[in-house]
Amino acid sequence: MESLFGDLFDGTDGKTVKFADVILPVPIPKMFTYKIPKSLEDGVGIGFRVMVQFGSKKVLTGIIGKVHQKPPKEYEAKPILDVLDSYAIVNPLQIKFWAWMAEYYCCHIGEVMNAALPSGLKLSSESKIQLNPTYDTQTSPYPLDDREDVILQALATKSELSYEDCEQLLGVKSIHGIIKSLIIKEAIIVFEQVKDKYTPKVESRIRFCQPYVEDRKALESLFGDLSSKPKQEEILLKYLQEVPIYQNSDLNTRGLEKKVFADAGLSMSSLKTLIKNGVLEEYKLIISRFEEIKGNDETVVLSEEQNHAIEQIKGSFLEKQVILLHGITGSGKTEVYIKLIEEALESGSQVLLLLPEIALTTQIVARLQKVFGSKMGVYHSKHSDNERVEVWNGVISGKFSFVVGVRSSIFLPFDSLGLVIVDEEHESSYKQFDPAPRFHARDAAIMLSWLHQAKTLLGSATPSFESYYNARQKKYGYVQLNKRFGDAALPEYLLSDILVDKKKQLLKLDFTRIMREKIQEALNNQEQVLIFQNRRGYAPYISCEDCGWIPECEHCDVSLTYHQYSEEMRCHYCGFKEKVPKVCPACGSGKLAAVGLGTERIEESLSLLFPKARIARMDLDTTRSKYGYQRILEDFGAGNVDILVGTQMITKGLDFDKVTVVGILDADRILYFPDFRAGERAFQQITQVAGRAGRREKKGVVVVQTRKPDHFVFDQVIKADYKNFYVQDMTERQKFFYPPFVKLIKLSSRHKDYKIAEKAARHLHNLLHEVQVKKIMLGPEKGLIGKIKNQYIFESLVKLDKSGNAQAIFKQELRKILESMYANKEFRSVRIIVDVDPY
Ligand code: ADP
Ligand code: ZN
Ligand code: ZN
Repeated sequence: MESLFGDLFDGTDGKTVKFADVILPVPIPKMFTYKIPKSLEDGVGIGFRVMVQFGSKKVLTGIIGKVHQKPPKEYEAKPILDVLDSYAIVNPLQIKFWAWMAEYYCCHIGEVMNAALPSGLKLSSESKIQLNPTYDTQTSPYPLDDREDVILQALATKSELSYEDCEQLLGVKSIHGIIKSLIIKEAIIVFEQVKDKYTPKVESRIRFCQPYVEDRKALESLFGDLSSKPKQEEILLKYLQEVPIYQNSDLNTRGLEKKVFADAGLSMSSLKTLIKNGVLEEYKLIISRFEEIKGNDETVVLSEEQNHAIEQIKGSFLEKQVILLHGITGSGKTEVYIKLIEEALESGSQVLLLLPEIALTTQIVARLQKVFGSKMGVYHSKHSDNERVEVWNGVISGKFSFVVGVRSSIFLPFDSLGLVIVDEEHESSYKQFDPAPRFHARDAAIMLSWLHQAKTLLGSATPSFESYYNARQKKYGYVQLNKRFGDAALPEYLLSDILVDKKKQLLKLDFTRIMREKIQEALNNQEQVLIFQNRRGYAPYISCEDCGWIPECEHCDVSLTYHQYSEEMRCHYCGFKEKVPKVCPACGSGKLAAVGLGTERIEESLSLLFPKARIARMDLDTTRSKYGYQRILEDFGAGNVDILVGTQMITKGLDFDKVTVVGILDADRILYFPDFRAGERAFQQITQVAGRAGRREKKGVVVVQTRKPDHFVFDQVIKADYKNFYVQDMTERQKFFYPPFVKLIKLSSRHKDYKIAEKAARHLHNLLHEVQVKKIMLGPEKGLIGKIKNQYIFESLVKLDKSGNAQAIFKQELRKILESMYANKEFRSVRIIVDVDPY
């Protein structure tokens, strides 16, 4: 951050700077210029939070994005009202990054700011009261009652009080009535005070008062005085035993946790007396919310392949900014990352390692923590607001030079990144769907890394076709790891035809014969089994066997998922839920049947098929709590569970010795997804979940249940022929104009009125059609799901030519068109969503 002021003042003498462009959390695509008052000039720059007036009434807090000397042309700049920080919480590189993101993803920089800041750094305001300066008890016509008097007296000594202070003063639950009365009597004024939501964690500590620290004689005579008071003496001895004060001067200021005395069974009232008499003092120490973890130096010996990969990566980084590490499941990519991270840190750079979902990768985090200890920050959504602020500040202070985190960690205040690693780079959870900015964290990380002049390593066993394409085009470097670590073999696949088993009546509770046999074998050998089905709940829906009625969500165009455990039907789009009806509301029949397979139902079937097995389930419903996921995995790792059923949560990164069988119950659901990435995704999901099997000496088995055993994806997955599959799929994509051959932009118009939504979509579509760039446009048509949360959805898809500046021109025109629609009364209430690179 040394360069901050250099950037700011642009070589001028620093005194003439007068204006600041402030990023505000409003849906307007630009920054606003404010005057920096002389009185604030010294303590302000890029990345400081400030309070400004917006419009005639509103006061907003924003972040300074730029400081300059040009007054705005269209309006007169108002002054900045207040500066809220004593140091920049955001650095100039971040502002550049935000600006890029707003531009690329066609959203507002204020929206990017909103996504970037942990909510603990977003400001909240609190109502406070102060004395009305014109108020005079003597002349006021309104007499005060007792309680009002108490408050005014308190205000005479403390210039301001919060509502909470007042409530405590009077011992009442709500203060609103009294405050209202005081306002009417013109005795007080209420004002809004902005404050951080972040509250530091503090610990109560005890230390010697200064005279005793400085003067040994005083301390000795003190012990003499206390010889008749053994309990107090005991406390002092305990303190000196833990913190010997004269040996090391810096220890003299270090206190002892208050609870140490209580834990030692010492008298709390004697402690109080010592404090009252000015011998000891109590103080609050701000402490970290994160446990201190020591990294250990125990180094693993890398295999020849791993060493070779590292050399190749380092060599390739000399020429390329981005490298794709294509390493099969179990090839030991983590240790390769660790080595590269260590070297980057040694050279003084910061490092960011992105993971798709932290909760899903506890194992890798635990491994990294062992190596890097507390200099590694962990940043993810299950952390509290306060914890996230501590990681943020830790990056600024240098406490964390290395962060492992989910997609939002690309927004942390790094100022000297040297290496960014994106693990499982093919993962779709790197894409943010809602709200804006709808960014892809892998793509954004590459940009971030470029802004820092850093290197990017993308790792995957099943790379996204975009990244592999870039590697083949020589835009990215390409390094492979082709062998599993320790010579473990890749698993064997068994395709099991559901229809054949059904015909022969071998299908039991949706499990084919082979599937059941393999599971049984594993159980007999005390090995473990993973069963994958990407659908939570009991069954995708319920249906009436007589009339075919299917319950649907009242607010969305989807059927309700049946959750047997809670005896409810739930909408997975809006959260709507309903009890299961006893009889069909359409025909009165009592024959309502659950159709299809969800994880709950599979868990139930397994317990019927294998009554002795210990079964657990891992899906969104069983992992809502902070450590839900971790607990299930610990149980599984400790061997307390034989079969684990789960959604895509169990496909990623898991590394367990005893898993020898992986079952995929309904592979067809993965194959027939109406999306150009369906094939790619099927290949990835099947390979990834299969990759959990047989990661040690014993070869694993993957049983895949399907109605289409001769589908060509299976053939390629079984041969592990990524490249061939890629080539075939690419031919299709090229022919039908899909990425990476074109750029996609999806536009959707949403409104509670079907006609307005459709009309807006058509209007937008027609305007975009006229933009003079090479492109193909599809739509507008009703969304795949036509209504969500009572909003009708119409969509257009734009396929843009990748060459030249078609993208830039199109996005620029799009911006103008959106503004014109926003200004059009008819469409003002339509929500238009722009999704660049949609998934
Ligand atoms: P990937 O992420 O490529 O699927 P992992 O990094 O999880 O693979 O490694 C697979 C397994 O091999 C892990 O259990 C890991 O601890 C082990 N492993 C990898 N490299 C080494 C090494 N150099 N020494 C010891 N064990 C290793
Ligand atoms: Zn019916
Ligand atoms: Zn719904």
